[in-house]
Amino acid sequence: MRTKPTPLQSAVTQPNGDLAPEPERAYDSPPKEVPVSDVAQVIIIGSGPAGLTAAIYAARANLAPLVFEGLQPGGQLTITTEVENFPGFPEGIQGPELMDIMRKQAERFGSKHHFEYVDKVDLSKRPFEVVVNDVVHRSHALIIATGATAKWLNLPDESNFQGRGLSTCATCDGFFFRDKEIFVVGGGDSAMEEANFLTRFASKVSLVHRKDHFRASKIMVDRVLKNPKVEVLYEKEIVRYLSDNGKTVTGARLRDTRTGEELDAKVDGIFLAIGHTPNTAFLDAQIALDDGGYIVLQGATGTNIEGVFACGDVADTRYRQAITAAGNGCQAAMDAEKWLETQHAH
Ligand code: NDP
Repeated sequence: MRTKPTPLQSAVTQPNGDLAPEPERAYDSPPKEVPVSDVAQVIIIGSGPAGLTAAIYAARANLAPLVFEGLQPGGQLTITTEVENFPGFPEGIQGPELMDIMRKQAERFGSKHHFEYVDKVDLSKRPFEVVVNDVVHRSHALIIATGATAKWLNLPDESNFQGRGLSTCATCDGFFFRDKEIFVVGGGDSAMEEANFLTRFASKVSLVHRKDHFRASKIMVDRVLKNPKVEVLYEKEIVRYLSDNGKTVTGARLRDTRTGEELDAKVDGIFLAIGHTPNTAFLDAQIALDDGGYIVLQGATGTNIEGVFACGDVADTRYRQAITAAGNGCQAAMDAEKWLETQHAH
């Protein structure tokens, strides 16, 4: 029986996205092994749009994929509400429902889904080994689609306000803030991009940044500073979300990071753009990662290990959209299928 959380679990469960230190592994007994006759053609780790689209394509290619979805099946889309920009749903669709029907579509073609976390992988062996709840599963090819977790401020009531005036995705939720006043938190390129983007909808955007200078690139900062709808609140941080009705965000308590002075401000929505943590800790540095911990791709979905493919937000610092993750999941399944063909040919 597992007694402590694994790094991947920590990455998902910590609301601020920070990874917990590597825990000591403690098992009552050594991992059980699934019989060698049950080696899967492909194991898919992750269950957002990338993992589930990879499952649909791999299943339709008769690869009978084994999908480990984790304990928050559907990934980040399960914490959004209405998804209005996924093609094919003119009236929009709830995030969890979209993930549900994607899974059903994959299952129709023979994918098998388990709602468990992968504890660790061994990519030095062929077939690859994937350890889940003390059981060793094996596969010839592996697709990693574990996503990235948006960082949160870790303030009281944060999870209650998610999707109720508090968001980490301007592209997803900006539309709901037409003619409203909003805060964007952060000082990197994401915050600049989101602040500018949100002025298409909002009557006013206040950029809340804890320092007196930005780490974002100069061109992005210049665009924000020239935008008449954006006001910058330097050296301020949010220390509390406020709500008049107990349901949605209606304000925030700001603290001056220099003087410590606090001030309550009214606002209709708050967008956090303080970075993401890719869910790659469980790989234990067996795959090449960039400085931010994202998987480094070779071509569309290849990694530095032959037979291991990655797709979606775990390897994407730029687009991070459900539709781009889904497209990338399709590419990963097709690349895995082609690679498996070359293996069986030899
Ligand atoms: P970054 O890590 O670059 O920036 C995060 C920002 O959030 C920093 O300003 C940081 O403050 C602030 N922050 C972090 N934690 C907190 C906290 N707890 N409270 C308040 N503020 C906090 O993340 P980004 O998502 O902006 O960018 C990630 C990468 O993606 C970068 O390499 C970026 O260049 C790239 N990117 C490129 C884009 C483009 O080229 N179009 C668009 C978006 C991203 P501080 O500065 O004080 O540390």
